[in-house]
Amino acid sequence: MSQSVSAGHAGQMCVRCIVDTTVPGHNFDADGICSYCRMQDHLEKQHPLTPEGAKKLDTLIGQIKKKGKDSAYDCVVGVSGGRDSTYCLYLLKKVYGLKPLAVHFNDGFGNPVAGENMHKATKKLGVELRTITSDWRESKDLRIAFLNASTPDLGTPTDIGIANALFNVAVKENVKYIIIGQSFRTEGIAPLEWNYLDGRYVLDVHSKFGKTPLRKWKPTDGGFNLRTRHMFYYTIVKGIRTIPIFYDLPYIRSEVDKIIKEELDWVYPGAHYFDDLYQSLMNYVLRTKFNIDRRKYNYSALIRSGQMSKEQALELIKTVYVIEDPAVINLCIKRLGITREEFDEYMKLPPKTFRDYQTSYQLIKLMRIPIKIASKLNIIPSTTYAKYFECG
Ligand SMILES: [Zn+2]
Repeated sequence: MSQSVSAGHAGQMCVRCIVDTTVPGHNFDADGICSYCRMQDHLEKQHPLTPEGAKKLDTLIGQIKKKGKDSAYDCVVGVSGGRDSTYCLYLLKKVYGLKPLAVHFNDGFGNPVAGENMHKATKKLGVELRTITSDWRESKDLRIAFLNASTPDLGTPTDIGIANALFNVAVKENVKYIIIGQSFRTEGIAPLEWNYLDGRYVLDVHSKFGKTPLRKWKPTDGGFNLRTRHMFYYTIVKGIRTIPIFYDLPYIRSEVDKIIKEELDWVYPGAHYFDDLYQSLMNYVLRTKFNIDRRKYNYSALIRSGQMSKEQALELIKTVYVIEDPAVINLCIKRLGITREEFDEYMKLPPKTFRDYQTSYQLIKLMRIPIKIASKLNIIPSTTYAKYFECG
């Protein structure tokens, strides 16, 4: 395997960030600013880091406490042992005094370092950790099906599994708030064609390439099924809101690292996204088969929020991201129960996108206005609208 070639950049590059013409959904205005920069500026306006913004967050925390005052938990928080979710848990419990229930979705490729982090953090904070483990036969089958589907969305089944695990526990415990540790300021928003999240898409890929049947959806056990009607059930019927709490807070990675290392004995898993070892294989496939470098939108977000310089980002993307470890990639292939030769055959299949499969994209497009309103009202994360309508 060649370790010297990073995903190349081509053509025009944004004058402000490192989004270039290899990033789907890019378009540059007359000043050479890209659409992703404009999107982040818009989100900044929607979530201002001002005293008014802080007041809005205080009101929300008050509402969460009030709704859960007679229950053992007032919110469900997704944890992975990575930086963002560890700090999220710390903030909710220690700073805001909430009663979170930590939920981890184990999809078979957890990094032991991240696993240790989760146990240490929940123990030190006195928070219950509930692990939802996927059915390995389903998970393995879906991963191989996506290699066969030949699209970049190798992580989509896991993302659906995570969303379900959080909704399922929320339904079971009658909790109305799910809190997630994502931030558009540090992570950015992935282009639609690089990371398309849609339950119907997963089921179509599975129907074409899967071999093991997926178990049926239940409100408290969704598995890898998450159709639009299930989302309707969770958000409208059950009234569960998903809150990316960092949107309304200053979130500076270097400062966060210091806090969680000191307070929770947190250890860096080695790279961003490396709480999940499968990301190693994914990074390799994305780079060598699709010419995708996810750091382009990750680092661009850090540049816009003043946490990285453009020069530094350009220097960093010259080399292959450290997450791509040949030993871990081989381990992933072995865990899938396929040979290296079989894996290399999947790599040779012509690249496709979600547009080559049956998805809910047409339906989502028809729901543009309700999604815009729900995003504005923060019923769903405000980035949802941006993701489906402004990223490609
Ligand atoms: Zn830009």
